[in-house]
Amino acid sequence: MDESSIWEEVLKNLQKELGESEIKTWLEPLTIGELRGDMITLTAPNKFYKKWADDKFLVYIKKAFNETLGIDADVTVVVGGVKRTSASEGTKKQSGAPVYGHKNGSGLNKDYTFENFVVGGSNEFSYSACEAVSEGQFMQYNPLFIYSGSGLGKTHLMHAVGNRILEKFPKMKVLYITSETFANDMINSLRTRKMEEFQNRYRTIDVLLFDDVQFLSGKQRTTEEFFNTFNALYDNQKQIIITSDKTPAEIPDMEERLKSRFSWGLIADIQAPSTEEKTAILMKRAEFMGLKLPGEVALFIAENMMTQNIRELMGALVRLSAFGSFHKRSMTIDLAKEALEKFIAKKDKVVSSEEIINAVCKYFGVKLADLRSKKRTKSISFPRQISMYMLREKQNMSLQEIGSIFGGRDHSTVLHAVNSIASKYDENKEIQLIISTLEKDLYS
Ligand code: ADP
Ligand code: MG
Repeated sequence: MDESSIWEEVLKNLQKELGESEIKTWLEPLTIGELRGDMITLTAPNKFYKKWADDKFLVYIKKAFNETLGIDADVTVVVGGVKRTSASEGTKKQSGAPVYGHKNGSGLNKDYTFENFVVGGSNEFSYSACEAVSEGQFMQYNPLFIYSGSGLGKTHLMHAVGNRILEKFPKMKVLYITSETFANDMINSLRTRKMEEFQNRYRTIDVLLFDDVQFLSGKQRTTEEFFNTFNALYDNQKQIIITSDKTPAEIPDMEERLKSRFSWGLIADIQAPSTEEKTAILMKRAEFMGLKLPGEVALFIAENMMTQNIRELMGALVRLSAFGSFHKRSMTIDLAKEALEKFIAKKDKVVSSEEIINAVCKYFGVKLADLRSKKRTKSISFPRQISMYMLREKQNMSLQEIGSIFGGRDHSTVLHAVNSIASKYDENKEIQLIISTLEKDLYS
């Protein structure tokens, strides 16, 4: 990873603290010089920029370097020439950064392709549906509604469909849009009295890729407009793909008539990836970034990062790469341990049974006495089952021991509770989330 990619990473990191326009106006024009030890020089286009950087942003910049590279950076801003023009930068491969707007303003990111997508058990259903749609069999799955937790590849798949369709049918009008952009566009069109143009724009499309529809929730006027757009496209046998972080039924505050249309075609989901899938995805992305990532390091990251979110896994890879090239070290498990320290569960940390039970009580807002009592309402029995599962899985306690903690229950009761959670775990996102949150609390 070269210096400018590291600076890009630092800029991304700064998004946590600073506004987009501040970053664009004041920090993006700065360029980074060669890195020497902890000394970092940033070059500003003129003294005005330097003053702003020094006065307002230096603290944040240092902090972001620290988070990206794990160093206590000594940052100096100097005045120098002008940043390279965007024309020369355009040819540079920017890992992961979306390249929008190719092919007739379709809004597609050409890096999100089927070829770059790793298929496995967690996503093959959605993947196959997307492939089928790309064949041009439009009405077969219309609309295609894909839902999953965040960072599991919905947006990527959608773009892949768009890219494939344009490859096969270059004349088609494909539009990728997020529900937020749609909403903004509508509001602007209302304001400038250009609704007719707006409607024509959206109703003359062959393939509409509508991302994150859940954000329409509660926006009545926009939802109505989307409803009309949907109907117009559907009636003309145009393909619609919609993504959401929930099933249609679970989207709050949205008209039933629209939600019911979402189920007319096919509803497909993407599940959290397995360790093998995560490893394969990391390897593929490393290859794409031109990074030499040994399989064992990929596996280490996949097994130890406390996340199901592939976006976060990709972030870890970038961080590892930045960290490695900065410290001039090769990709080893030790490097990964250091670079990703904050994100990795410390499995060898000793945690007591009391701490586990307390964490569960805190999470669910219940009392230990309730867990020990005979109460069998769901609000008590579920946390009790989770505690028993955690004690069995994490502490290796015997069924009898666990039984005695919970008011002298016999071992078959405990076994039943542990099995009940274990059998649901793979399918049930809520349970996965609860356990991973508890683990994060306890072991890191
Ligand atoms: P979502 O839209 O579900 O929040 P994204 O499509 O934005 O998720 O995916 C997050 C990141 O993970 C993207 O960089 C994407 O390329 C990558 N990604 C997700 N799933 C896969 C996969 N199966 N193979 C390769 N990359 C993936
Ligand atoms: Mg998305």
